[in-house]
Amino acid sequence: MKLLFILICVFLLCNCEELRIGGLFEESNDNARLAFQLAADIINENNSNPYKLHSLWGYVHHFNTLATSHTLCSMLEEGLVGIIGPTSPFLSPYVKSLCDIKDIPLIQVQWDFKQKGNDDLINLYPDTSELSRSFVDLIQNWKWNSFTIIYENNDSLYKVKYLLEIYDQIQNTITLRQLQSGGDHRKLFVELKRSGDKHYVIDCSMNILEEVLQQAQQVGIMTDEYSFFILNLDMSTVDLTPYQYGGVTVTGIRLINPEDSRVIEFSHRLQQLRLNNGLKQEAFNHLAAWKLQTESALIIDAVYLLYETLMELRISGVDSVPLFCNSTDSWGKGLSVINFIKAKTLAGLTGDIKFDIETGVRKDFTLDIIELTPGGLIKIGTWNSALGVNSAHIQRKEIYGFADTNPMRNKLFTVLTTLTEPYGMLKNVSATLTGNDRYEGFGIDVIHELSKKLEFRYQIILQEDGMYGTLNARTKTWNGMLGEIRAGRADFAITDLTITSERESAVDFTMPFMNLGISILYRKPEPAPPSLFTFAYPFSGEVWILMAASYVLVSISFFVMGRLCPSEWTNPYPCIEEPTFLVNQFSFRNALWFTVGSLMQQGTELAPLAISTRMASGVWYFFILIMVSSYTANLAAFLTVEELVTPFENVEELVAQKGIKYGAKAIGATRNFFKDSNYSVYPQIEKYLYNHPEDMMTTNDDGVRKAELENYAFFMESTSIEYSIERHCNLTQVGGALDEKGYGIAMQKDSEYRHLLSTAILELQESGKLAQLKTKWWKEKRGGGRCEKRQPVATPLDLKNLGGVFFVLGVGAFLGIVCTFIELSVHTFKVTKLSNNTFKRSMVDDFKFFFQFRRMTKPVKES
Ligand code: GLU
Repeated sequence: MKLLFILICVFLLCNCEELRIGGLFEESNDNARLAFQLAADIINENNSNPYKLHSLWGYVHHFNTLATSHTLCSMLEEGLVGIIGPTSPFLSPYVKSLCDIKDIPLIQVQWDFKQKGNDDLINLYPDTSELSRSFVDLIQNWKWNSFTIIYENNDSLYKVKYLLEIYDQIQNTITLRQLQSGGDHRKLFVELKRSGDKHYVIDCSMNILEEVLQQAQQVGIMTDEYSFFILNLDMSTVDLTPYQYGGVTVTGIRLINPEDSRVIEFSHRLQQLRLNNGLKQEAFNHLAAWKLQTESALIIDAVYLLYETLMELRISGVDSVPLFCNSTDSWGKGLSVINFIKAKTLAGLTGDIKFDIETGVRKDFTLDIIELTPGGLIKIGTWNSALGVNSAHIQRKEIYGFADTNPMRNKLFTVLTTLTEPYGMLKNVSATLTGNDRYEGFGIDVIHELSKKLEFRYQIILQEDGMYGTLNARTKTWNGMLGEIRAGRADFAITDLTITSERESAVDFTMPFMNLGISILYRKPEPAPPSLFTFAYPFSGEVWILMAASYVLVSISFFVMGRLCPSEWTNPYPCIEEPTFLVNQFSFRNALWFTVGSLMQQGTELAPLAISTRMASGVWYFFILIMVSSYTANLAAFLTVEELVTPFENVEELVAQKGIKYGAKAIGATRNFFKDSNYSVYPQIEKYLYNHPEDMMTTNDDGVRKAELENYAFFMESTSIEYSIERHCNLTQVGGALDEKGYGIAMQKDSEYRHLLSTAILELQESGKLAQLKTKWWKEKRGGGRCEKRQPVATPLDLKNLGGVFFVLGVGAFLGIVCTFIELSVHTFKVTKLSNNTFKRSMVDDFKFFFQFRRMTKPVKES
């Protein structure tokens, strides 16, 4: 019974059709061999599959084509329907030509830079040029303008060929460094660290990747300042736990998704197979699901692809024929299998598999972008040839597991500055200083305050040529600090860097930390020559005229009051008790003399007798007191203060005159202002500046020196003018500002730090810190406040100052007249009581007498 069962089984086995496929692997590559075997096993486990797969494999020897041909020929004799491999790119062309002769479909799974698309090539490894394009897309997405490619061998250069083609030496610099052959790469990493480059692209085999990263960590470049982009598609199989908490950015790409259920299943089965075959278990079992390497996954996909194609073409084991290398026979179906595969699509472990019909290379693949975080490797986006990079940097916050709104915290930034007073200066100390300690200044303090607020670290570097940044219209490149920022060699630039629309198109600026405008720096005005009529200067012309008018009017008032006031008519002969006539001391001449006598503070023998005249005299004396005191005080000012004369008061007058030369800083925002502005006299100034290159200065300091020594006006930004006139006492600012602008901190376009820095600058402004720093660097440090304060300017007193005195005088004179009439009325009233005359009659008589100006004696009416 038992024997019968065995016979039936043997019969069935003999009848089942087997498809024989071959695999060529390197002797050391157990993973590839096992993956090949596993794929066949899993296909065979599925009872619904009509045919079983019989996998035959053979070892190839690197560089040994003879041994390889021997292996291949003996496999072909078994009657193969397809071959997968070899896993050595060196042997690929050789195996390929043999398979072509025998018309056996060959499916390659290796990155092969020499591969050229042709009719009968199938390679499951992603197309080299598309892969290279993905590197470019990612690096451009991260805005790496300057980086170093660390490569293992010359083949790597083919991988990065697009990177090398796209980047140029002016804007984007690439350094190429090869890993040391001996295995010690520390020296290389030390040199790279010193170079200041922060971004690295690493391309090396998996055998050495872990060692390379370890050595990078040993020299201290696996920290938060550095970024690594690892081109190997198997980066995720390396143990990166030693670096995941240090903050270093390690990014890579992968073709297989370790969370895919099929990938997990194959990984487990592969691990099992390894154990069954007595191979050592991987060190990190928990990463088993991640350990399926790209090559193994591609081999599995290749087996499936071949099997499904054969099924669809209804090719069975009977179709296969043994082929011998020493004969000319061939299979005859290989090309149709290849063509069928090219048109086929398959959802494999390595994603959707599609080929270019023409060339047979794998196209339209999707890569996962993965990044190392404290929680391990995480997918942060994808890349595919149609959509490019689909990754959001914002996601990083979520990736890191904490909502830190300050991406600047603890990071080290390179801050570029220039030696421009008082923004950035070298400290004047005898001790040898290093690092940031060497520098001081307003800009340095601002960065320091910002670093305290935003908790970042900074390293100051100098822009040696002192250039701020201008666009070369021909080459479309930026020089100076802006060029450095754009190239990624510095993170921020701070100095008296003006925010302009042109610069804003190349870099980003923070909110201005200082506001200013262009103005003119020129020598202080000269004292005017002394004048013969300085004595007249204390009062303005109108005050002098009003004084003269007051003198005449007050004299007339005294004359009027004297004639009308009865008390002013006195007995000329005191010894005659009852005089027949009376005399009056206030004749018109005497009135003029009385007023001028008191005005000159000399007095006369005339003494007012009536209340009204005395009242008027009092007010007049008061008026004189004030006027004389004011005159004396202001005359003293005019005699001590020299009158200053300015040859021009504003930009229009400067342009209109001929004797004074003028200029600006040759390369900078001020020069550009005149180039670009069409308003007012600015085009005339531009013409002058253009025609007088000898008046254009390399630095503001040169301009200040020239303005001090020559008859030269220098257009400069108002903040710098303020700084200069605090120290160069013979210089001053002439006229107001021609425009309004500000200084800002420059950084790369679309920088994530811009908003944070702007907010911090506003806070410094609101707290008064920036104003305090300005006072420190403008007025206190380095000779600030040396110049005496501006001399007070003496100005003539005018009606605004003295109007009140004239008013009091007017009111006094008016009251005097009113008093006169009261006195006259009272007197007349008394007299009419004693005589027969009526009050009205007596008043009319008095007024009639008043107008008889020639009569200076008055008959006595009453006894
Ligand atoms: N602040 C100017 C600039 O950013 C330099 C000085 C000037 O042009 O007056 O270019």
